[in-house]
Amino acid sequence: MDSVSFKIAPVLVVHGGAWDIPPDLIEPHRRGVARALAVGYALLERGASSVDAVEAAVAVMEEDEAFDAGRGSFLTSDGRVQLDALLMDGATLRAGGVACVERLRNPIHAARLVMDLSPHVYFVGAGAEAFAAEHGMSLIDNSELVIDRERRHLAEAQNQARQTRQGRGADPISDALPISASPGTACHDTVGAVALDGRGNLAAATSTGGTLNKSPGRVGDSSLIGCGCYADNQSAAVSLTGWGEPIMKLVLGKWAVDRVQQGTPPAQAAEEAIAYLFHRLGGHGGIILLGPLGRVGSAHNTPHMAWGTHTARGMEVHVD
Ligand code: ASP
Repeated sequence: MDSVSFKIAPVLVVHGGAWDIPPDLIEPHRRGVARALAVGYALLERGASSVDAVEAAVAVMEEDEAFDAGRGSFLTSDGRVQLDALLMDGATLRAGGVACVERLRNPIHAARLVMDLSPHVYFVGAGAEAFAAEHGMSLIDNSELVIDRERRHLAEAQNQARQTRQGRGADPISDALPISASPGTACHDTVGAVALDGRGNLAAATSTGGTLNKSPGRVGDSSLIGCGCYADNQSAAVSLTGWGEPIMKLVLGKWAVDRVQQGTPPAQAAEEAIAYLFHRLGGHGGIILLGPLGRVGSAHNTPHMAWGTHTARGMEVHVD
């Protein structure tokens, strides 16, 4: 390998969701996280930017049906896949986001195109797909993103919702909650990555199919700047997963990086963010946080979180 000289040792951290990951999905999650770390870190080692590394790591997990991103994502209440993704460059604060896209295999690549080629920051729905197509991405049929496992999940979720409603009587607010909003059955399988490259630049990326049985058009925290994803060289890079509505209301990604900027170590800021999510709004989820000196934080209040780190000392993968 050509020797690349680094100002600072590169670090990559990825997650593949925080929820009650069933025993048969533990290994697929472990493998998926390991693949994403290997691909993203190989780029960092060759001198690529943190933006390239997080985009590549997230694209690997979008391609992996184990996760709620790209093909294999949770379905909307009308049986479609609608995807959201955000990418952010901590050196410049440039960002690109897409939401409610139904015809893109890798929404994180569309987010990158938005960041690099548009004067705007965020596109939704048909406009996002048209922008991606204009810049060379193929548009696919939504059915190519839908898999049988998720058709079954949706049917189970809708049956459960019907039974709960019958037992309780009408309640417009809780009837509109996605099934995954109820603790215990929560499926939060969003993917994300944060990286520090050899030039000392941070980046973050998050990609999701959202929550199971969500209403069409619903956008969660994952692709919203400062909610499920944020990066700023002057503070930290963050990616979250979990029940999106409480995370959005707390602008929790920005809350966490601001803590790091004020001097809290990332490990402590990650724990504090998840504690705040729970105590303020009863929310649940997981977080990965990376400071400008390469210090890593992670925390979750779900039974498991799939995540891992890659540094010069090697790779560590956890489904803890
Ligand atoms: N945070 C995502 C959302 O609410 C779901 C997840 O993390 O799996 O859309």
